[in-house]
Amino acid sequence: MTTINDPQNQPQDPAPDALHEADRRARLLREQLQAHNVAYYVHDAPTVSDAEYDALMRELQALEAAFPSLVSSDSPTQRVGATPIAAFGSVTHRRQMLSLGNAFSADDLREFDKRAKRTVGMDLEAPVEYICELKLDGLAVSLTYENGRFTQGATRGDGATGENITQNLRTLGAIPLRLATDAPPDLIEIRGEVFLSHREFKRINGERETSGEPTFANPRNAAAGSLRQLDSTITAKRRLQIYLYAVGESKGYRPESQASLLEQLRSWGLPVNPHREVCETIESVVAFVDGWADRKNTLDYDTDGVVVKVNDYHLQQEMGQVSRAPRWAIAYKYPALQVQTLLEDIVVQVGRTGAITPLAILAPVAVGGVMVSRATLHNQDEITRKDVRIGDTAVIQRAGEVIPEIVRIMPELRPEGTMPYLLPSECPSCQTPLIRPEGEAVTRCPNAKGCPAQLQTRFEHFVSRNALDIAGLGERHIAQLIAADLVKDPADLFTLQKESLLPLERMGDKLADNILRAIEERKQTTLARLIFALGMRHVGERAASVLARRYRTLEQLAEASADEMDGIHEIGRTTAESVSAFFALDETRELLRKLREAGVHAQGDDSAPVSDHFQGKTFVFTGALTQRTREDAEALIRRLGGRASGSVSKQTSYLVAGDAAGSKLVKAQSLGVPVLTEDEFAELLPPDERPAEAPAIPEGES
Ligand code: NAD
Repeated sequence: MTTINDPQNQPQDPAPDALHEADRRARLLREQLQAHNVAYYVHDAPTVSDAEYDALMRELQALEAAFPSLVSSDSPTQRVGATPIAAFGSVTHRRQMLSLGNAFSADDLREFDKRAKRTVGMDLEAPVEYICELKLDGLAVSLTYENGRFTQGATRGDGATGENITQNLRTLGAIPLRLATDAPPDLIEIRGEVFLSHREFKRINGERETSGEPTFANPRNAAAGSLRQLDSTITAKRRLQIYLYAVGESKGYRPESQASLLEQLRSWGLPVNPHREVCETIESVVAFVDGWADRKNTLDYDTDGVVVKVNDYHLQQEMGQVSRAPRWAIAYKYPALQVQTLLEDIVVQVGRTGAITPLAILAPVAVGGVMVSRATLHNQDEITRKDVRIGDTAVIQRAGEVIPEIVRIMPELRPEGTMPYLLPSECPSCQTPLIRPEGEAVTRCPNAKGCPAQLQTRFEHFVSRNALDIAGLGERHIAQLIAADLVKDPADLFTLQKESLLPLERMGDKLADNILRAIEERKQTTLARLIFALGMRHVGERAASVLARRYRTLEQLAEASADEMDGIHEIGRTTAESVSAFFALDETRELLRKLREAGVHAQGDDSAPVSDHFQGKTFVFTGALTQRTREDAEALIRRLGGRASGSVSKQTSYLVAGDAAGSKLVKAQSLGVPVLTEDEFAELLPPDERPAEAPAIPEGES
């Protein structure tokens, strides 16, 4: 194995031909790795798997180790990450944020142990104490605390300079704005990893799918994409998590060991991953790594390995670092969960808005302990790009260890006579010719009214947990109701009679009663649920709840123009037009009439505007607020008829700036937007909304 390029292993003179060939290959690898770095670090959208990237990196490291004259300071083997993007403003790290060398086997770990001891002239048999921590697959960040107050947050960037994401990090509930101690260090940079749980990743992707936005490939990209948002209100909506594990510059605190550092961080109120172990020897490290190989799959977040660090800080310092990584730590990476299997068939699914999604049917195979028999193929472009054909042998992977996907197919194992795959030209459910609108990747069945597959998925959506939540009505029952022509639109559910249910196959007296009761119970629902249940394109749960806050009834929403909705914070033009087009349809009007007549009643939201005190005014909040949380302040603005926005523009009426306000304050000043302190803002409020005299909430808890 080759890990980090260590100038200690040095060269013999290579033959000119071999050197020439190695140079050609190294240039190609550098170009590819640099392009992958930009896709991964700058755009949060990698085009190859981490395993493929790591393989390219190892090949380049091996070449550079064999031909040291090829090493250049700009080689990806010598550098960390990628140059940060300018839009955020940059932060120069007081101490470099390094990457780590990698190990891929137990022998690599033993080799690391020896190398580390050699650098400080230790006896190779003498024990060194290590600490094993799970390697979180997220985004590395640095938090600066001055006199105990959180003052700055940054991404790693290229290790020397990162992006200033202070505002975004402030939205993470897990990051204390003040360290929980009376005697904080004068200054300390604390480093850790921001990540997303699988559950939250699924929620975000579900919402993006509903609103027609591209989904994230895995939780790591979703976490990075959420944190590197120019609008921190978007970050605030994603439930990002963080674990801290390292310290950079520090004035007034020096840990004795990594284990004591982690304890200290915890006592300051910072989250620290509980899964760690101090190991007396490298063999106990190997046992820890083995022990977590399967166990890691039971966690609700991704870990792609184990980070092994020399525990003692003095020893760490003696060992020092090479260009991009310390000599006293290494990241063990578990093998990617990739396996080969036969692609037996491709079927297409019809979604509730008519979207056609091709699905690969695979010979069942275990990937990381989970049986996989299907994988999404996304759309025709994706199939064409990978040239996926029925009969191929495919390499599949649980990306981010969650969703199965086809990494590539193996052309060398392709049988004779296969054909490139093209999506069918007709809908498999209703045989209507399919269409692919100009500029869109998605192919659709345009038969919205009559396509049984669309009806089925629309009904499934209508009764689903976050919509009307009619648990008693399963997929099979819906299919039966559609086939028997008992329901044509969701309103028909509420007028179903027991006599018409009883003739259905496997339908008993009791089951029919249960189904009817489950439906009846949901006649009283919330407006947000009903709007979401209607399944309009681009209207996910979030948009539904925003609309429900603004309009008190479905009828009021039906009357709203696209222009009016477009003016609502968080509702974009596409959503506004989609909602307006939906309510303009005759069948929608008919549906509303039927729902009303059937006694379906949807209650508006409590936080809907109750006055027009701030009508036509847009507020932006920034910095640390002491009188109320930012969420409460924004809700208050909405209740008083105004708009709360996450970004400053010429349309902003006021910027309310608390302590440590950053780029928004600068922008407001440059645009001439009036800036208010919290007290000045309080004066604009109706008297009964003003806070009591003294600031009620200490900043650390806001
Ligand atoms: P790395 O993933 O090999 O490991 C170092 C990182 O681990 C640290 O910087 C830190 O962020 C993280 N980490 C997590 N838990 C930790 C803990 N407990 N203690 C210390 N550090 C911890 O290195 P990297 O430089 O962050 O990223 C390089 C890797 O990213 C590549 O090996 C590859 O897997 C992936 N990558 C993929 C692509 C792609 O196109 N697919 C492109 C670039 C990078």
